[in-house]
Amino acid sequence: MSGDAALDVRHLTVEFIQRSGPKLRAVDDVSLTLYPGATLALVGESGSGKSTIVRALGRLLKPSGGEVLLGGRPSTLHRSDVREYRRHVQLVFQDPFASLNPAHTVAHHLARPLLLHAQATRRDVAERVEALLRSVNLVPPGDIARKYPHELSGGQRQRVAIARALAPSPQVLLADEPVSMLDVSIRLEILNLLDELKSERDLAMLYVTHDLATARHFSSEIMVMYRGEIVERGPSDEVILSPSHPYTQLLASAAPMPGATRSALAAARRTRQGARAVRDAERREATVETGCKFRRRCPHAMPQCASRPPDVETAPGHSARCWLFDQGAR
Ligand code: SF4
Repeated sequence: MSGDAALDVRHLTVEFIQRSGPKLRAVDDVSLTLYPGATLALVGESGSGKSTIVRALGRLLKPSGGEVLLGGRPSTLHRSDVREYRRHVQLVFQDPFASLNPAHTVAHHLARPLLLHAQATRRDVAERVEALLRSVNLVPPGDIARKYPHELSGGQRQRVAIARALAPSPQVLLADEPVSMLDVSIRLEILNLLDELKSERDLAMLYVTHDLATARHFSSEIMVMYRGEIVERGPSDEVILSPSHPYTQLLASAAPMPGATRSALAAARRTRQGARAVRDAERREATVETGCKFRRRCPHAMPQCASRPPDVETAPGHSARCWLFDQGAR
């Protein structure tokens, strides 16, 4: 990927204090870069830390370590800086029912960020609200603006949530499972809308999902996350059709798709055996540990896996954090 980064995240770490036991490291040394007009997909199962990354990048929680550069400039946690940061980095949450206040009209939801971030004046705010509604295909905008959230369908609410995120004219959009709570029939419409908006507005987009098929279709690059760590990253087609890391193979096996190689699927089937019980045990553990976090589920585990695996390039632009690809480990 070339060009200037919109958002550059370096060595992001998020830890949570637990009532008993050591701290839980929910995000462990994650680096990623978002470019204008491109989508990076972050995939992984529930509890892998995807949403924690979104919350940290959206400044909804304080990272324990790492650095975030917006447009090449480091962002701080000063109050004035946070407001400016949020103008440029907006979020779309998965639950359109919870993300809108039932006591306020659609017009109120959109006028507020427009005025707060000086994107409209009192005089032209109604016009700007209607323009935002048209941009997310909610028509007639005058009628929609007067409605309350309960008068809208789930898909319409998510369109309002997207319009609200666009109100400050952000550079970066963090979409956290934006269609997982919608009817299957309208998921594709919303994803297509996000894709169009990304191109029209040159948005840098982080698309968080557990759905490999849509990750492949709507992103140019995929990062796979497992228990707080990025275990594989690379071009979308390569990661999905020829996964390197045993965990990605497991995910691919749960959602096989046309074009996946036979060997990848066979490897995935082996990996899947007995995985569920171990995964539940791992969730209960929730500790900071050394070594590969996937080793209790991995059919290829070997003694070296008790040490933290290296991040190895398996093809140009494609890497996996696994001892299998380290020449010295064989
Ligand atoms: Fe499996 Fe070892 Fe690779 Fe971890 S480092 S995925 S345990 S082979």
